[in-house]
Amino acid sequence: MDYAATLLAKLPGGSTRRARDLRQLIESLETYVSAEHIEGIIKAYEFGALAHAGQTRLSGEPYISHPVAVAQSLADMHLDPQTISAAILHDVVEDTDISIAEIEEEFGAEVAALVDGVSKLDQMQFTSRAEAHAESFRKMMLAMIEDIRVILVKLADRLHNMSTLDAMPREKQARIARETLDIYAPIANRLGINHMKVALEDLGFRYLYPYRYAVLGRALKRSKGSQRQIVKKISEHILHAMTAENIDGEVRGREKRLYSIYKKMAEKKRPLNDVVDVYGFRIIVDDVNTCYRLLGIVHGLYKPMPGRFKDYIAIPRINGYQSLHTTLFGPKGLPLEVQIRTREMDSVAESGVAAHWRYKAIDKSSATPQRRARDWLSRLEEIQQTGTSEEFLESVKVDLFPDKIYVFTPKGDILPLPKGATVVDFAYAVHTDVGNRCVAAKVDRTLVPLRTTLHNSQTVEIVTARGAKPNPNWVTFVTTAKARSAIQKYMKNMRSSESVDLGKRLLDRSLKDLGSSLRKVGKVRLREALDELGLKDPSSLFEQLGLGERLAPLTARFLVGIREDDAEPTSASLVIAGTEGMVVSYGKCCHPIPGDNVMGYLSSGRGVVIHRNTCGNLTNFRKQPEKWLSVSWEEGLDQDFSSEIHVESVNKTGVLAEVAAVIADSQSNIEEVAVVNRHQDTTSMTFLLQVKNRVHLARIIRNVRKMANVHRVSRDS
Ligand code: MN
Repeated sequence: MDYAATLLAKLPGGSTRRARDLRQLIESLETYVSAEHIEGIIKAYEFGALAHAGQTRLSGEPYISHPVAVAQSLADMHLDPQTISAAILHDVVEDTDISIAEIEEEFGAEVAALVDGVSKLDQMQFTSRAEAHAESFRKMMLAMIEDIRVILVKLADRLHNMSTLDAMPREKQARIARETLDIYAPIANRLGINHMKVALEDLGFRYLYPYRYAVLGRALKRSKGSQRQIVKKISEHILHAMTAENIDGEVRGREKRLYSIYKKMAEKKRPLNDVVDVYGFRIIVDDVNTCYRLLGIVHGLYKPMPGRFKDYIAIPRINGYQSLHTTLFGPKGLPLEVQIRTREMDSVAESGVAAHWRYKAIDKSSATPQRRARDWLSRLEEIQQTGTSEEFLESVKVDLFPDKIYVFTPKGDILPLPKGATVVDFAYAVHTDVGNRCVAAKVDRTLVPLRTTLHNSQTVEIVTARGAKPNPNWVTFVTTAKARSAIQKYMKNMRSSESVDLGKRLLDRSLKDLGSSLRKVGKVRLREALDELGLKDPSSLFEQLGLGERLAPLTARFLVGIREDDAEPTSASLVIAGTEGMVVSYGKCCHPIPGDNVMGYLSSGRGVVIHRNTCGNLTNFRKQPEKWLSVSWEEGLDQDFSSEIHVESVNKTGVLAEVAAVIADSQSNIEEVAVVNRHQDTTSMTFLLQVKNRVHLARIIRNVRKMANVHRVSRDS
């Protein structure tokens, strides 16, 4: 009381509403928080009151009354001092010019992180009315939260805002009420915080459907007077029986909630009287055995309704709720709904996950908030061994420890993506065509590279261009299967169209060598040949030729009707176009470059592989002369080819760097370096270089050869 007294003394008018609220908060805290911590909370109050000074709520009250009310409802749940301080400061960053950094400096990282989390949630606007959208929005909110206490503050915040909604204009009331019913009440329910769920639902109902609320409320009130008498009589009856059996406990008449009555009427299409004339009782006892014993006793007092008994103690509900439920035929046949549970079960039923943040002054547990949430879940899992509602548990887990992020489309739709997803993944998630044609992207209205990793609640806009193609390189950073397979599929299609081109040209050449052409062969013969080969159209034939699955010279002979089997090497001279990398490749054994005398080898599935005439592998392939094509380089190629050189030098530190520098000065890039062997005096290095052609390579070799430390340079080892 000292702290309260000290502080209250400073306030103008100790009897004002503001002073009373603060006194009440401190009194609540004194029941479970140490004096030292209360001092910290008072400091947060002074800081917050100063920051919000001059601001008022729509109701006309000073602004600070709101955060204090939020803190009060969390103190009622016995939450830890950090959460209480964060609750007092929760609107400071959003509504004043105090920064998170300042909060951290004054109150530490933990309080600052909580305030930051609440501020971030406040920035999210829920607009759509679609049910599915609400579900995604809830998930997104939960995914954003790194600390469950953030959502507890947010729920308390919403609860207080709902209870002061009268000051708001009507349309705003309806919007906020709907958001409360769609988003916040279900979150409270999911986390098992029953008293918040019930309060949020009733307030939401009241402001969304004021007329229905009023009518129902009046009807309920009318029946209440007589009800109270009945409830009192039945309670006494049950208590009497308990005393006779030596059972200690508490019997409460349960008040019917308007929203649950409304929902029952709407869902089951039942008239008001059916729903209202139900009496609810809750009996709290000391232990589980007594629960079952008591069940027998009440079943002896009133006849149980068949099929209405539920044992949620043996098989708890998924959010951890435990209780025995039964319905009895009461006086005049009125149904009595009875719940029997222990004190502990009652507390779990009311606070759910929040029970795990209940502050214990002695317990200096350093467990992280995530850890505690996990504990809660694993406890649920334990009591959930029956496996009846695994799905729900799974979904709670996904919500609390998501492996997904949620981002917005420019239209405000929410898209779930796996953690680590990039802009390109987003584009493909929107539509395959958007992915295939995307060229740029904006995240929160800023242009970003396509490989940018996305984070929760960002808004992503994809810029597409007609005729744009996916980049094969994207496969290296996309994380979704959809994006990867779409890119690969596209590349395969592109590859096949290039194969068709190449195959057609190979065939043209071979036909020309035989003094023929496709036109001379004619459609009739071509169709006949295709049928014989089991192919459906010319394109399939060209593709097979382009990929080397079928040989052009042989196919040409087949088409013109030559059926001899002497397979002399053909002399088709193919121009190697620089853009056909997909189906023309270069032997890694000999690294041919423009200017080299080369041969093409038709490799099944790989198209044409170009080798130098001097390549050692030629001898192996000579046995199949029919697979060889003579090819030549196209003129004026301007692209880089890989080539190898071998350098022998003095064995001395720094030589490698010297040689590399000379190569770079000769306008070449080094792709790979290998130090092949190291004798006492000499070092042998192999460089894989990028060169334009033989002339370029010769210049590099000359420059390296001139170096003092270099003994020998050669292209072939
Ligand atoms: Mn607030």
